[in-house]
Amino acid sequence: MTDALPETVLATLDDPFAQLTGSLAGTRKLHFEVAGTEQVSPHLQRLKLTARELDGFGYLPGQDVMLLVAAQGNKPVRRRYTIRHLDPAERMLTLDIVLHGDGPGERWVRSARPGDRIEGIGPRGKISPSPDADWHLFMGDESAMPAVLVMTESLPADSEATIVLEVPDPEDEQDVNAPARTRVSWLHRLGGHAGDPAALSAEAAEVELPPGSGHAYLLGEAKVVLRLREILASRGLAQDQMSPKAYWGRGRANAGHGEPAREGPFGA
Ligand SMILES: Cc1cc2nc3c(=O)[nH]c(=O)nc-3n(C[C@H](O)[C@H](O)[C@H](O)COP(=O)(O)OP(=O)(O)OC[C@H]3O[C@@H](n4cnc5c(N)ncnc54)[C@H](O)[C@@H]3O)c2cc1C
Repeated sequence: MTDALPETVLATLDDPFAQLTGSLAGTRKLHFEVAGTEQVSPHLQRLKLTARELDGFGYLPGQDVMLLVAAQGNKPVRRRYTIRHLDPAERMLTLDIVLHGDGPGERWVRSARPGDRIEGIGPRGKISPSPDADWHLFMGDESAMPAVLVMTESLPADSEATIVLEVPDPEDEQDVNAPARTRVSWLHRLGGHAGDPAALSAEAAEVELPPGSGHAYLLGEAKVVLRLREILASRGLAQDQMSPKAYWGRGRANAGHGEPAREGPFGA
């Protein structure tokens, strides 16, 4: 059993999130223990985490938890991962985490074994399916797959959803079991660079935008999200019809609070 951060390090942290106030109001500290870990596809690791604080834990589809994966000096390093599933009876949370190469989050995920412990904070995040939308368009890369799938699964059966997801390889695709009428397009990088906007941008320029008032959820690499937002705006989607969120930035580590250091207009 290994702690992500030993008590001695935790005690010395200069932690901006020591108090759950401000943007963290409504969240709780979660003392997670790893219950299971499994590689479900070439680039995706599924972690099951349990915590007694999951008793009565509520969240909206698309929300995430923030894990305290490491420390840099006395500064905490946190990473955010979307809640893919929660089994309240078993107090068991499922996260699907991309194996992209290297980083403090990835290192902890690769090393995690049943019994290991890590601190979390959640639920976080403001992006959930818009209840008033006539249709929903989800676009992103594999880091967005958990959010896209959990949000699509939560839509009522009479909803209409289009999913465009870029994944490294066909083997990284997942089944979509949603009651809503759902069209799914998978884009495969096949050795290409993650964070290249070309394929998703081409889809954003072509994808059918049905009649009525829809909502687009644009999640993944920061510059790709920005590009998708520009393209859909040029096709007539208003700013309040889009929920963009930068999950990571190509060529730079996320900041200690788990998001790309702010360059653009996104945050949630
Ligand atoms: C609200 C929110 C929800 C998220 N949900 C999920 C989720 O459910 N599953 C998930 O896997 N990720 C999710 N992410 C993204 C994840 O937090 C980032 O990918 C994070 O950068 C991973 O941390 P790291 O320490 O492994 O890498 P970092 O230290 O942040 O980065 C190290 C290097 O890896 C690169 N890198 C980081 N992430 C990726 C990636 N996905 N693909 C390719 N290169 C990358 C960076 O460009 C950098 O060069 C979410 C992010 C946010 C903000």
